Amino acid sequence: MSPKVSRKLAPPVPQGGVKKAESLKPSPEQKNQEKYIRPTWDEYFMEVMEAVSKRGSCDRGRSGCVIVRDKQIVASGYVGSAPGDEHCDDVGHLFQKRLNPDGSISEHCVRTIHAEQNAICQAAKKGASINGGTLYCRMTPCPVCAKMIIGCGIKRVVAQRRYHDGKMSEDIFKKCGVKLEYVFDEVQQYSKQ
Ligand SMILES: [Zn+2]
Ligand SMILES: [Zn+2]
Repeated sequence: MSPKVSRKLAPPVPQGGVKKAESLKPSPEQKNQEKYIRPTWDEYFMEVMEAVSKRGSCDRGRSGCVIVRDKQIVASGYVGSAPGDEHCDDVGHLFQKRLNPDGSISEHCVRTIHAEQNAICQAAKKGASINGGTLYCRMTPCPVCAKMIIGCGIKRVVAQRRYHDGKMSEDIFKKCGVKLEYVFDEVQQYSKQ
């Protein structure tokens, strides 16, 4: 039995061979328009991070993470409950209020393992070194993730956007020699942040 194909297949790529040889010659203008531009390595891994994040089970950022060494993906992770625990998407978040140093109170979902932590766990599970690697993620890692990232020897972090309260992580990365870069210099938006 052939496997069931639920996705629509992409239309076949037209083959040049069926056309007359003369019509195959592109004008200089066409040549410029049709030149395929490959994604950079950062764009490539960020797109993978985006795909990974779709498996996340908590919509507070719906984060994903990819850890790379020598231009190869070593581990990936997404935000989700501990294996065996319920998902936020099914039963709602597990909120806790936190008193911040400036006196303000913020709410955080504490059910999940963060995407960065899950990626580090995956590397540990399969015994893959991430020392000296680059980590791609949705937004500025939280201070706990930041310390774990530093601790396992990752040297560069590429975040898609800023976390609204990412100063503490930015400071510790700087202090400990981890390069932090943003793809978009703006704050990631989600509800009740
Ligand atoms: Zn949650
Ligand atoms: Zn975190």
